[in-house]
Amino acid sequence: MSISLSATLFLSHIICEIVDKSEEFTMKNKIMNTILIGVPSIFIVAFYILSLLETTNDADIWAVNFNALDNKSLSSLNPGNGNETLVLDGATLIDGNGGPQKADSVIVIDDSKRIVAITNQTNFRDNLTLNNDSNGSQSNERVLNLTGKYATPGLFDMHAHIAGVRKNSYDQAMSKNMLGMLLDYGVTTVRNPGGPTNETVRLRGEVLNGTISGPEVFTAGRLLNTPEFPVPFVEKQFTTEEGVREEVRHQAAAGVDYIKLYVGLKPDLVKAAIDEAQRQGIKVIGHLYLTSWTDAANLGIDFLTHGVPVSPFLLPEDKQRIFNRTGGGPFDHSLWLDLVDLNSSEIRNMIESLVQNQMPVDPTLSVYEAIFVRQGFADPQNEQRWNKVLRLTKMMHDSGVKILSGTDIPNFELVPGESLHHELELLVEAGINTSDVMKIATKNGAEALDLINQTGTIELGKQADILILSANPVEAIENTKRIYAVISNGRIIERSN
Ligand SMILES: [Zn+2]
Repeated sequence: MSISLSATLFLSHIICEIVDKSEEFTMKNKIMNTILIGVPSIFIVAFYILSLLETTNDADIWAVNFNALDNKSLSSLNPGNGNETLVLDGATLIDGNGGPQKADSVIVIDDSKRIVAITNQTNFRDNLTLNNDSNGSQSNERVLNLTGKYATPGLFDMHAHIAGVRKNSYDQAMSKNMLGMLLDYGVTTVRNPGGPTNETVRLRGEVLNGTISGPEVFTAGRLLNTPEFPVPFVEKQFTTEEGVREEVRHQAAAGVDYIKLYVGLKPDLVKAAIDEAQRQGIKVIGHLYLTSWTDAANLGIDFLTHGVPVSPFLLPEDKQRIFNRTGGGPFDHSLWLDLVDLNSSEIRNMIESLVQNQMPVDPTLSVYEAIFVRQGFADPQNEQRWNKVLRLTKMMHDSGVKILSGTDIPNFELVPGESLHHELELLVEAGINTSDVMKIATKNGAEALDLINQTGTIELGKQADILILSANPVEAIENTKRIYAVISNGRIIERSN
């Protein structure tokens, strides 16, 4: 019985440590100490032997020199094909629900890559039958010592164009690289809000079947737009409701998870797309302009993206006239921010309709930082604009809009993975507390993707998508970058950095 071996080693280790310390004592005290230490030790050993006699399972604790593990060798702990479990031992658990942290946690992941037990170290040691499956067959454990570390759910990037979004820009090697980087940075799920339809669907399949290593992918196809505002992105332009419906059916047949509606669509076409998507059982994301967020939410769209909802209809009437007269368009963020009144009835109504329709929004603050802040406020008005961006995000969050963590990689030279961690810092800069930001980056993403029964929190029965950090992200959000290990779908990732 290997339990007895490891238990004996464990006990002798403790006894040796006490005896070592006792050598500082004088000879006289030594005899006294031998009695004081020896007698209880005999009882402890006897107690262990008795408890072992009652233990019926045959768990093998693998002998691994934990201290010698680096990024690469950590993955050697991955269970092989046998009936093996991975035990994450001793981390402080931040489960993604936003509740209190749990010290000294033990998380057990079985060979079907699910979390089969979450307990604390005392309970785990007291209950060695934990991993003894019901039909009594032998199960092997591999233990990863995580004392002093923090376990959080894997992160979500809800705006990751993993197949590129510019016309004719698809590059399989680049996509592969992006997916690898995302995973290295602890991003275990991504939503791609637009890309070349067939290539993106194929990429999702290659990740799913293990050909490419990457986070789990959910994807939209090419953008649905009108000729009014042509963009250099993969798009198809429509002028009729029937054309829009046909494209939705075409993309649904190709296997997309979402339809992405773009800036040129007016409410009649948005409505047709939502209706057809609902018939096909898929959801709709909007980056809109000629349809305001208020109208889109009331029409039943499922997600809105980018935290600056540029649209003349969200400006007070006199400002709408200025916007139109000045030639404002869907990408005139500066002009729109200069004219918008965040306390206006238009913005208040918009937020109310987002809340009522439970509309998730990914503010992609990284995008606006790239536009307004990267040049060090070269234009003095940029500081005000940036503050408005942050304020609107905070207003939505405080009003109960479900905020999501998204970046817009690889646009604006945003770096896969790294920029997601930075997005979390920007959400904190907007005034959202770190505990809420951790929930935004994990649970909110899973809820928005209807994955909450599978992932997004560290809970019993869920797929093991876990990020192990060397420092506490609730104390300082930049600690999400102090990655010790990434576990995606039950496997420790062999990280390249
Ligand atoms: Zn985008």
